[in-house]
Amino acid sequence: MRIVILGAGYGGLALARALAGWLRRQAEHSILLIDQNADHQLLVRLHEVASGSIPPEDALVPYARVLESSGVEFQQARVTRLEPTARQVQTSTGTVRFDLLVVALGGETEYFGLPGLREHAFPLRTHQHAVRLRRHVEHQVVRAARETDPARRQAHLTFVIGGGGYTGTELAGELADRLRELRALHQVSSPARILLLEAREHLLSGFPPAAIQRATASLCARGVEVCPEMPVAGAAPGQVLLATGEAIAAGTFVWAGGVRAHPLVAESGLPTGNGGRARLDRTLRWEGHEHLFVLGDCSEVTDPESGEPVLPSAQLAIQQATHTAHNLYRAVTGRPLLPFTRRPWAEAVSLGRNDAVALAGGLLVTGSSAHLLKGLSYRRYRLSLGA
Ligand SMILES: Cc1cc2nc3c(=O)[nH]c(=O)nc-3n(C[C@H](O)[C@H](O)[C@H](O)COP(=O)(O)OP(=O)(O)OC[C@H]3O[C@@H](n4cnc5c(N)ncnc54)[C@H](O)[C@@H]3O)c2cc1C
Repeated sequence: MRIVILGAGYGGLALARALAGWLRRQAEHSILLIDQNADHQLLVRLHEVASGSIPPEDALVPYARVLESSGVEFQQARVTRLEPTARQVQTSTGTVRFDLLVVALGGETEYFGLPGLREHAFPLRTHQHAVRLRRHVEHQVVRAARETDPARRQAHLTFVIGGGGYTGTELAGELADRLRELRALHQVSSPARILLLEAREHLLSGFPPAAIQRATASLCARGVEVCPEMPVAGAAPGQVLLATGEAIAAGTFVWAGGVRAHPLVAESGLPTGNGGRARLDRTLRWEGHEHLFVLGDCSEVTDPESGEPVLPSAQLAIQQATHTAHNLYRAVTGRPLLPFTRRPWAEAVSLGRNDAVALAGGLLVTGSSAHLLKGLSYRRYRLSLGA
């Protein structure tokens, strides 16, 4: 059987490597992994690339290295259309046929139709976005150093982040530390402003109150203006528009307020739910389609107890990948598939260079120990890739 996996992010790459292990001595089955890039992007480190805290290459791992002697065939191509009933997909390099397909194309920024955001806000979803933002941040400080008009200088030094989830919170913490260094480097004595705007009543929705309070206090102590219940209404050149009718003059506006599934998921015409995510059966197959599996940010996962959607994360994508590898092996060997059960995982939100909040086994860890835990999880992941 020809098994095709679309997307080699956290989910697709883990799946391909695990499945290759299961199918090692079965030459009648092949695995083709397709991604638009030549390097695996470590998205969980993008806030550090964007702020300039780590070199861009530290968040990339070449597929050639990870997949060497793995038995997985890799093709660099852009997927342009899913044609599930014809059992094929269209890509920038031609038509690819499959017997079993796994869609792991990740997500994209959700703008909720807010005017001007797509044009005037920086997204932070890919390595390319992070590198662009990094250059812009440095440029803003250089321009502030040269600017003689106080209002224009302040606008260069105003950084607004919309969305106080994982990405927005981690970016705010990292920027607070990095801007101090950049201002010293370019001899800018005027203070920088970082505003973190969140529509709900607090940051880090879904985290326990003690973690939220700790994260908020840490950011505020380093000068971040945390603004809960402050929905963004739109953006214009050099301005962030608020639902209150006010406008903030800012040289930098980063939108981290939402994620939706890759657009090819909804364009396929198959069942989708919240955020254009594929609706799955309990075995992680696309509802009603035996030969299609979906995982990661493209998939809709609901908590069986609360009925609430589970926030997409790298850890969830990897758990789904391991389960799908097992199920694909069962499928090709003619055995019934097993339902997916999500296991609890440790979560850590970095708050800058030496602070974080982490939840591990029901315990809240904070400060440098939590930061160390987060660093260890990065290192463990890289090591697991042999990089
Ligand atoms: C800034 C940031 C910080 C985050 N921090 C954390 C964190 O600390 N912890 C955590 O658990 N999660 C975190 N996440 C979320 C986590 O990164 C995602 O949930 C995870 O990457 C989802 O994995 P995935 O395999 O579904 O998609 P991805 O990892 O996004 O992979 C999708 C892959 O598909 C490829 N692709 C997309 N379109 C095409 C196409 N048309 N053709 C071919 N290939 C294509 C992409 O190149 C990519 O390799 C963070 C996300 C961001 C953006």
